[in-house]
Amino acid sequence: SAKEMGRDSYKSYAPQLTTKYDQKLLIEKKLRHALELRSFELFYQPQVDLKNQQVVGAEALLRWHDKELGTLPPDVFIPIAEKSGLIIQIGDWVLEEACREAKTWADNGQALRVGVNISPLQFQRPDFVNKVKKVLQRTGLDPSLLDLEITENDLLYHQEESLDTLRRLKAEGIRISIDDFGTGYSSLSYLRQFPVDTLKIDKSFIKDVLMNKKDQAIVTSIIQLAHNMKMRVIAEGVETKNMLPFLFEQQCDEMQGFLYSRPVPAASLAEYMEASRSAQLFVN
Ligand code: C2E
Ligand code: MG
Ligand code: MG
Ligand code: MG
Repeated sequence: SAKEMGRDSYKSYAPQLTTKYDQKLLIEKKLRHALELRSFELFYQPQVDLKNQQVVGAEALLRWHDKELGTLPPDVFIPIAEKSGLIIQIGDWVLEEACREAKTWADNGQALRVGVNISPLQFQRPDFVNKVKKVLQRTGLDPSLLDLEITENDLLYHQEESLDTLRRLKAEGIRISIDDFGTGYSSLSYLRQFPVDTLKIDKSFIKDVLMNKKDQAIVTSIIQLAHNMKMRVIAEGVETKNMLPFLFEQQCDEMQGFLYSRPVPAASLAEYMEASRSAQLFVN
């Protein structure tokens, strides 16, 4: 505590802490009005099938621009939205917006899966499944085109309830992905019982995969594990072309990363898709 550290250290730390605390309060205050101000936007990052080199899905990623604060990354404002409970309202908006957008892609002849990040606070609410069902009804999106991304820690927190929720989502035909796979505290036994479609290998394992033998072993093992359990695998954070032969060889199903595209606004994604219909994207 400050007392134990002595008066001087208290004095020198206090202003810093106050500033950070004030900053969080300010962000929270602004987040409260962001939905009304329409200052949120969803960007979409393509997910590419490695075998046929087609875009098969896109992950919706939340962007927030505040007039005063500028553009804040989700890693900064999502935790504040979660602490304050605002993530529920924000998450509702994200889900509806992403489904609405994906429905327009399908209507335009480009049926792509849309990945939506789900916060544990949303997932753990008893009304979650009904909410998702209602959004699908309202937007008319085919449930098999919705892919909910959840992290392993979130699934394990209330195992029984999580399992029940996942089963009900699967009964609707909705897809489930485990995000940031490999970074959680999970025991692998949960994969046996949880109905999961896709493992997304966390980008921290992909980053140095060509240089680092241990990362290579981890990535190879995750791909094998997933395939043995009839799941697909997406490599996240693929930034360079020289990773592709390794991922092909290991039979990784899909990739997502700056190499193919950064997250882009919905309109740009549509243009992208149009252009990519004729083009050969990468030659290996
Ligand atoms: P995530 O779900 O793991 O999303 C992937 C993140 O990796 C995105 O960061 C994306 O821009 C970034 N990324 C993609 N390709 C590359 C690459 O090649 N290299 C590198 N270095 N990064 C890459 P972003 O958009 O900043 O989002 C960060 C996190 O914020 C997300 O991680 C997700 O956990 C959370 N998030 C974003 N949108 C939402 C949302 O709508 N709801 C919730 N609950 N969380 C969200
Ligand atoms: Mg994600
Ligand atoms: Mg995530
Ligand atoms: Mg991730």
